[in-house]
Amino acid sequence: MFSKVLIANRGEIALRVIRACKELGVATVAVHSTADSDAMHVRMADESVCIGPPSSTDSYLNVAAIIAACEITGAEAVHPGYGFLSENAAFVQVLEDHGITFIGPSAEHIRMMGDKITAKETMINLGVPCVPGSPGGVPTLKEAHLISDEMGFPVIVKATAGGGGRGMKLALTKNDLDEAFGSARSESKAAFGNDEVYIEKYLQKPRHIEVQIFGDGKGRAVHLGERDCSLQRRHQKVFEEAPGPTITKELREKIGSTCAEAVADIGYSGAGTIEFLYEDGEFFFIEMNTRLQVEHPVTETIFRVDLVKEQLRVASGEEMTFKQEELEIRGHSIEVRINAEKLPNFTPCPGKITTFHAPGGLGVRMDSALYAGYSIPPYYDSLIGKLIVSGTSRPAALARLRRALGELIVDGVDTTTPLFHALLDEKDIQTGNYDIHWLEKWLDKNVQK
Ligand code: ADP
Repeated sequence: MFSKVLIANRGEIALRVIRACKELGVATVAVHSTADSDAMHVRMADESVCIGPPSSTDSYLNVAAIIAACEITGAEAVHPGYGFLSENAAFVQVLEDHGITFIGPSAEHIRMMGDKITAKETMINLGVPCVPGSPGGVPTLKEAHLISDEMGFPVIVKATAGGGGRGMKLALTKNDLDEAFGSARSESKAAFGNDEVYIEKYLQKPRHIEVQIFGDGKGRAVHLGERDCSLQRRHQKVFEEAPGPTITKELREKIGSTCAEAVADIGYSGAGTIEFLYEDGEFFFIEMNTRLQVEHPVTETIFRVDLVKEQLRVASGEEMTFKQEELEIRGHSIEVRINAEKLPNFTPCPGKITTFHAPGGLGVRMDSALYAGYSIPPYYDSLIGKLIVSGTSRPAALARLRRALGELIVDGVDTTTPLFHALLDEKDIQTGNYDIHWLEKWLDKNVQK
């Protein structure tokens, strides 16, 4: 095991990694921007290094500063969390060149999956079913029309470098295609510096089902079932649950083993998530995330495992402790993302927290870096906490979620908590009857002006 690990992230995920390190007896180094000097991850780590000004480009994305922080503190490995540098192959390469271990997959695998066209091609070759679409990039509008006419509308134009729901545009009919193609390209160019796009059939009522996999980097891999993350706003998840309410044991074993075999085949190392759209009993691959997901705690809860400790073990050269035959689901788990945002328009709402009370009790986990007196800076993501509950059944987990939400107190800023209170009153949420478009439609009718 490593003796010292640097966490190249902030907020709840930095705390999450620090917790795993502490339990394994690993010393921790936090990095922070000047805006985060008072952040909880800095307090909880054994050491901390300021790596730059507030803007994440100059701090949390500043590779040279992070390498320098490793060298100053003698950290042997870096855990990237999610976001920031977690899927940056060039960063992994630089770490390697400095003899520092990246806690995650190889640069080659990150590169392979980071480009969505290459990812789809790889998955098709590995026998994973994909969403029907263009065989590769679509360079011209003329080709976009040819492919879409052949496939039939609606279609979705997607950025090959895309992420976080950006660079993705829907064309319901042929008349929308010029606009969708142009804006997907320009949005992608602006966000990712790459304007390559591809086209997929737009699925009308799918669920977002993703499979958690874990590989030992030596050709062995397991799956840890699925998460249903269909409740999304602007292609971003807000409520996640495991197991998926519509996924049977047989389906889980089938798609799970397909995924585990695929990543075993390429010698994948560490945690990863293979995302699918699921419609009428069929799975269609959309992308793979080569890192820990925000919603990993629901999987940890139902399988009673610690994914971050396993990442640390495997990255340090120890054997993977997960064995497929021992991974068994117990109960049901739900996560809701608490954001500092003001309804109805989800406007970011940074500011000073005057009171904070985290819910507790049996079956409740609150992953958050908040504390009373803390000022949420305006520079970063608005996620301020993840409330994760479990129960012996889905109804029990829903009842616990309602109870736990009632205990959560965040004064000083607006949060998305009222949204979840309202959702719990909905029959479709109670019965698990929702697809990826459900929340947008519900928000249009009930919340957004
Ligand atoms: P990102 O990397 O930006 O998150 P994804 O490819 O993972 O993009 O897609 C995010 C979400 O967008 C999906 O969960 C789904 O809601 C929607 N989406 C993506 N592809 C399609 C498609 N072909 N048809 C319908 N919805 C889609």
